[in-house]
Amino acid sequence: MDVLDRADLAFPESLPDFQRLFPSDAACAGYLEKARWGDGFSCPRCGVVGAPFRIATRPGVLTCRSCRRQTGLLVGTVMERSHTPLSVWFWAAYLVASRTQGMSAVQFQRQLGLSRYETAFGILHKLRAGMVRPDQDRIGGRAEEHVEVDETYIGGRTRGQGRGIHHKTLVTAAVEVRHRESGTAQDKRKDGRYAGRVRLSISDDRSAESLAGFVESAVMPGTLVITDDWSGYASLRKRGYDHHAIAECGDPDVAEEFLPIIHLVFSNLKTWLNGIHHGVSAKHLQAYLNEFTFRFNRRFYPFNAFRSLLGIAGGAQAPTFAELYSGEWPHPTCSGCLR
Ligand SMILES: [Zn+2]
Repeated sequence: MDVLDRADLAFPESLPDFQRLFPSDAACAGYLEKARWGDGFSCPRCGVVGAPFRIATRPGVLTCRSCRRQTGLLVGTVMERSHTPLSVWFWAAYLVASRTQGMSAVQFQRQLGLSRYETAFGILHKLRAGMVRPDQDRIGGRAEEHVEVDETYIGGRTRGQGRGIHHKTLVTAAVEVRHRESGTAQDKRKDGRYAGRVRLSISDDRSAESLAGFVESAVMPGTLVITDDWSGYASLRKRGYDHHAIAECGDPDVAEEFLPIIHLVFSNLKTWLNGIHHGVSAKHLQAYLNEFTFRFNRRFYPFNAFRSLLGIAGGAQAPTFAELYSGEWPHPTCSGCLR
């Protein structure tokens, strides 16, 4: 059972929509309750089905009418044990999910009307934690798609360090290349090619161990992988990939022709790092790579992002939930979801 398949759990498409759906903490709690139990609360302890008692001052707690056991709606979500009102959490997740650029903690504090910077920073930090988990599976593995892999240096020249690359960080990326149907408006750009999912990782160096090792961790075996002809990728065929190496010979036109999508990803990444965060230190770079990956892979699906950020999706796989609804849940048709 996936919350994404639930037509009764709407995702706001606009600000007025958001205000209508989530006007209060109680409305947010109602959304969480619906996500977990559909239309009828069922006590996890005694199994009694029926409307629970609600406490006006504690919207995140439901009390069983039969055994009086209190069930927390926020358990297992990012909001657990937080003193921040639910409506602020929802607003925060909506902002983070729907703004493709993301925002800094200062912008965030202003938007949420929070008096303390630390609160804004803490919320943002917790929401970011939800950006790591869902991307552990390998990309590729589909017959009609190939994957481009390349590496780049991130980070500018450090003051007083000269033009060397000593303070730059090597980042390796893999991206799925998909094709738009011919005849559509966009099919003329880059021959109708566009990016599917992406994986990004910091690499120690450009050795085979680092680069081919990254491919093994990020891409399904058997996938057609396109790289340049750097020796670090030479062992890919031996490692179970269908590998095409392109001789770039330092010619940017060759790269544009054969590895266009990965270069687009790198260009987007650098613009994002410089624009929003004004550059990022090497120490925190992996966290930002995770956020970029999260946003990039969900750029067409803000609802996925919203519920992943709040941790609502996690509840759908919890054993209590599965036990309660295994096979019995009528699968509603998906009308409002954006998958
Ligand atoms: Zn009970």
